[in-house]
Amino acid sequence: MKTPPAFFPTAARIAVLTVEPVGLLDYLAPDGGVVRGQPVLVPLGPRKVTGVVWDRGTGDFDLARLRPVARVLDAEPFDGAFLEFLARAADYTLTPLFLMLRMAMRAPDLDQPPAARRVIVPGGSAPPRMTEARERVMQVVADHGGASLAPSELAHLAGVGTGVVKGLVAAGTLAEIQAPRDLPYPPLDPLRPGKPLDADQQAAADALRGAVRSGAYGTTLLRGVTGSGKTEVYLEAVAECLARGRQALVLLPEIALSAEFIDRVEARFGARPGEWHSGITRSERRRLWHMAGRGEVGMVVGARSALFLPFRNLGLIVVDEEHDSSYKQEDAVYYSARDMAVLRASILGAQVVLASATPSLESWVNAASGKYRRLDLRSRYGAAELPDMAAIDLRAEEMSSGRWISPTLAGAVESRLARGEQSLLFLNRRGFAPVTVCRACGEQIGCHHCDARMVEHRFQNRLVCHQCGETRPIPTACSSCKVEGKLAPIGPGVERIAEEVAARFPDAKATVLSSDLFQSARALKETIAEIATGDTQIIIGTQIVAKGHNFPRLSLVGVIDADLGLQGADLRAAERSFQLMRQVAGRAGRQGGAAPGVALLQTHQPDHPVIRAILSGEDEAFWNAEAAGRQANAMPPFGRLAGIILSHPDLGVVSDFACHLAAHAGPLEQAGAHLWGPAPAPIARIRGRHRMRMLVHAPRQAPVQSAIADWLAPHKPPANLRLAVDIDPQSFL
Ligand code: ADP
Ligand code: ZN
Repeated sequence: MKTPPAFFPTAARIAVLTVEPVGLLDYLAPDGGVVRGQPVLVPLGPRKVTGVVWDRGTGDFDLARLRPVARVLDAEPFDGAFLEFLARAADYTLTPLFLMLRMAMRAPDLDQPPAARRVIVPGGSAPPRMTEARERVMQVVADHGGASLAPSELAHLAGVGTGVVKGLVAAGTLAEIQAPRDLPYPPLDPLRPGKPLDADQQAAADALRGAVRSGAYGTTLLRGVTGSGKTEVYLEAVAECLARGRQALVLLPEIALSAEFIDRVEARFGARPGEWHSGITRSERRRLWHMAGRGEVGMVVGARSALFLPFRNLGLIVVDEEHDSSYKQEDAVYYSARDMAVLRASILGAQVVLASATPSLESWVNAASGKYRRLDLRSRYGAAELPDMAAIDLRAEEMSSGRWISPTLAGAVESRLARGEQSLLFLNRRGFAPVTVCRACGEQIGCHHCDARMVEHRFQNRLVCHQCGETRPIPTACSSCKVEGKLAPIGPGVERIAEEVAARFPDAKATVLSSDLFQSARALKETIAEIATGDTQIIIGTQIVAKGHNFPRLSLVGVIDADLGLQGADLRAAERSFQLMRQVAGRAGRQGGAAPGVALLQTHQPDHPVIRAILSGEDEAFWNAEAAGRQANAMPPFGRLAGIILSHPDLGVVSDFACHLAAHAGPLEQAGAHLWGPAPAPIARIRGRHRMRMLVHAPRQAPVQSAIADWLAPHKPPANLRLAVDIDPQSFL
């Protein structure tokens, strides 16, 4: 039941929230009046800034001296539920409200009218002469299907000068036309039939359709191994949502890899959804923002920030791979898109579907306690099953120095080569070697700005800091003792495994998949497609291979170092390692009737509980044990945590202020919370800033946010000190 938004007549006092850190400011409503939630342009000092009409003005600044709203923007007003969402998300994450609005207004040219603009469309005639640059342009046009591109955007995306585009227009291969901005998206047809579902899938789809039909809030954990048909099932929920005239949002973690998903949506519903991620053009971004607000896009597929689009009538949010850590944003605004999706849906009376093969412990506990509904897809679609999994006990293998592929694993790769099948060697470490050490003096090469070691990237012939991105050439002499020729790489990264593969299997075609080796999402996508269909025999990859790609000929996964994730002191080390190993192993599942795949985990601790849980396939036992451990220590989700991260270029300043805060932690204690720290952060320096951390630990029901706000409010940080509060932290670095 929607109540119409409050209306403020001409010259009424209204409070406007702007995207600047100035709080709510009073203005006069413009001629013709304005409704609550309306995006506007207002004067702020000498500038004009964007904002929304938040409410009736309550300030006591002289009405006669108030300035009027400069302009009402040509955009749909935000509805009350969206304003409430922004306010509550700000409260929950202890983020200033203006920063939330900034996320909600992150679309270009909002202050510009929807005038026509020049765009490029296919022209019809074949080009007289094709060059490589021209082909790239035509490829971008083809990739963007119906989306309209300005000439400069097109040239930029294709990596060519605008002259190339002009040349193609002159040749009639492309045409430049005047098109209205911000066209509606073609509607998706929810009545087209999906694939026939098996019994498990059908039961889950029926349950989700019923939940969407209820028109009420609810969250469902949809669990099933990769390939069990989760996507197939939640697209049924999308269909139900669209049929009811509401909008659906699907969040994906690794948006670069969503092309396959978009094609699938198009095949299912006959049109493409709106896309929202860092790879879309400015004009698409603007168009989608407006169409979300006008209800003229039915389905949006996006990265976490799509959650802040001003949807007119959102009825369903799917969070695919809900356990993925990329849903947690950890800069500017610290928020979890998964948790904020649940908040937004609860305000809207919408449904949330959390899909995963390896859910987060939080979601698992919420399902176990009945807070979330839980649906399980028990088997892979068809008769397929998980791969056979086994440990390779490295203590019993003969490993020569500088080698990381054990004889047993090498033998397994050999047999795949002989059978014409693919093998994947997994190591979650980019670069050639994680550490470079001087054998003369023992010095490890570190970053000048961070408390981090420089990682050798041999393909680029540089050292790279994985914290700040700083790179430098690989030196020949040690900077400390000046001895030449003694620098040695220690330990493996994927590039080093590639070197070992080349030495051991000189005739095999190997491909390295690591995020740093690709300039663009497109290049990565092409390589993945090439691996799926081409003649690659051995894939060497970091965690980007763990995510949802299908390599039909892959029958062996070898995990180079299964112990890598177990070492962290992190609360979630076991959980993360379990999820990652499970996902990687799942890449080698049985494909289309072939023999089941095999996953081999190289480990020094085959009896470690996490390794045993991964191998046994008894997920429930693992989750139960993890949950019991967390409960015993009142750790999330049985207790609450908040990280306080302080940084400053001067170590003395940051540590003095941290100690000062810690000495005044009374408001925390009154709320039943405890403060741990301050201590230097595990990464004690990033980009020249010294970092300290504190951790607030509280019982589950404690009012953590207000206690932290009361605690911090009276203390003014010194100049240039940054203080961030991270509610429900995922990272403790
Ligand atoms: P998940 O999301 O759990 O990884 P998907 O929905 O992507 O699983 O399904 C895996 C593959 O199996 C996809 O190619 C999908 O099209 C196919 N599939 C799943 N269920 C069915 C079905 N009922 N009929 C035909 N194909 C199916
Ligand atoms: Zn650095």
